Amino acid sequence: MRRAVFLDRDGTINVEKDYLYLIKDFEFIPGAPEAIQLLNQAGIMVVVVTNQSGVARGYYTEDDVINLHRHIACKLEQYSAHVDAWLYCPHHPSGRGSYALPCNCRKPLPGMLQEAAMRHNIDMDNSTIIGDKIADIEAGKAAGCHTILVRTGYGAEDEKSVGPQTVVCDDILSAVKYLLK
Ligand SMILES: [Zn+2]
Repeated sequence: MRRAVFLDRDGTINVEKDYLYLIKDFEFIPGAPEAIQLLNQAGIMVVVVTNQSGVARGYYTEDDVINLHRHIACKLEQYSAHVDAWLYCPHHPSGRGSYALPCNCRKPLPGMLQEAAMRHNIDMDNSTIIGDKIADIEAGKAAGCHTILVRTGYGAEDEKSVGPQTVVCDDILSAVKYLLK
């Protein structure tokens, strides 16, 4: 079984911008490519799990999400870093058409983590989710992995409402260094 780190995207890997989908608006949080490279070097699987309700809301399409992920992958290559699996949830209960689902993949539900674990034989006891929202922490707990909240994105705000037992780090790079130490 493989050890994995699940990474939230917006607010954790890249600067939070409401409903980001344009490549020109993409901006790494400082240290994010290095953090992913450190995980790669340590042989830990890197899995991105991101809520993209902008699809259900009609702000952009699944193709836009996939194109942006391709762009991020290209940028990461410049740092000799890579993501092993990309999962996104395009649903929202009040969305449009076929996306208007009460799904089990939208965080705080653990569907994306469970899907990745099944597909890639991931050892949850030995894996961790890193994210900036309480929804990330709850998804991790529901999936049975460790959790780290980062203070980037919404994290500084959400830190006020997480329990004292939750590990909190300044950003993705300090979270990964904490994991690897
Ligand atoms: Zn979903």
